[in-house]
Amino acid sequence: MKILITGGAGFIGSAVVRLAVSRGHEVINLDAMTYAACLANVAPVADSPLYSFEQADIRDPSALAEIFARYQPDAVMHLAAESHVDRSIDGPRTFIETNVMGTFNMLEAARDHWNVQGRPETFRFHHISTDEVYGTLGATGQFTEDTPYKPNSPYSASKAGSDHLVRAWHETYGLPIVLTNCSNNYGPYHFPEKLIPVIILNALEGKPLPVYGDGLNVRDWLYVEDHADALLLVLEKGTIGRSYNIGGENERSNLELVRTICDILDRLRPGAAPYADLISFVKDRPGHDARYAIDPTRIREELGWRPSVTVEEGLERTVCWYLENEDWWRPMLGRHGVGERLGKA
Ligand code: NAD
Repeated sequence: MKILITGGAGFIGSAVVRLAVSRGHEVINLDAMTYAACLANVAPVADSPLYSFEQADIRDPSALAEIFARYQPDAVMHLAAESHVDRSIDGPRTFIETNVMGTFNMLEAARDHWNVQGRPETFRFHHISTDEVYGTLGATGQFTEDTPYKPNSPYSASKAGSDHLVRAWHETYGLPIVLTNCSNNYGPYHFPEKLIPVIILNALEGKPLPVYGDGLNVRDWLYVEDHADALLLVLEKGTIGRSYNIGGENERSNLELVRTICDILDRLRPGAAPYADLISFVKDRPGHDARYAIDPTRIREELGWRPSVTVEEGLERTVCWYLENEDWWRPMLGRHGVGERLGKA
């Protein structure tokens, strides 16, 4: 397939780009190169004849029209988004402009292209979203694809808005869409403002390890390469018009997760004292969701997908990657807002 991937210089998008090219797909990586982007993430495939890069902004409809016309993609995987909840609390406007209006622009550009092509049934618009659109859970239960949307942060509300647009473009115009809602990802190339890289890198520098509130908020964790694999599977085999929840079946409280990372670092890079001594509880995030959990029955039973690594294996691989790739993460620490406490409202 010739796949137009948006946000392919970001964390998850770059994992999808690397995997898609390695499987022989032709990939056009469309990315605006915001603070969260890094072309080193796609360096392993950048010289492949199957790979092209276009710096463009999904808020710019004419740029999108030109790229669709020039490349004539068979499918779109739409990952470009503003993705950091704390930044959405401080500055929600960009989230609405990119995540809602940008998705609208992508849908319109894809629909025009699909109409010109004669509305092929084989075309796919795959929208990549988050489990955060469902809001928060109590101590029990899991999100299914039928759970009502109840987003609590500007980020999750903007993603929920984009999901609704995608569904509507299928129902109203017949655009062949698939949609996925995934739990928290982690792994190599994770931008160092998100929890897991922050903990690894602060620990290595002997800085406090910030844990929001009491640390008992629970998330489901999925290794990013497993997510990329699930996304390509849904693109190829998913039923048109359907959404799929993707999860790692790895629920952990933030505190448990941080302690596991500390244990791995104690083994791989022992310091004078256990790294867990650096754990520091900080003021909670406003509107912080208590628990997310994914019921992955649909993707497992319909498409036969399961995660391939446990959270312990994935965290060990991730810590090793950060230990071996200081050249990648060190320059990121100077980027706008990285290392500051954001989103206190
Ligand atoms: P990221 O912030 O690492 O990457 C986002 C990419 O989108 C960046 O390369 C950025 O430059 C690009 N981008 C941002 N605004 C753009 C614009 N206006 N035009 C073009 N490109 C733009 O994000 P991520 O963590 O890789 O997430 C990718 C997608 O997956 C997002 O849609 C996110 O909502 C979704 N998602 C993320 C997670 C997670 O745990 N990180 C979980 C589920 C779903």
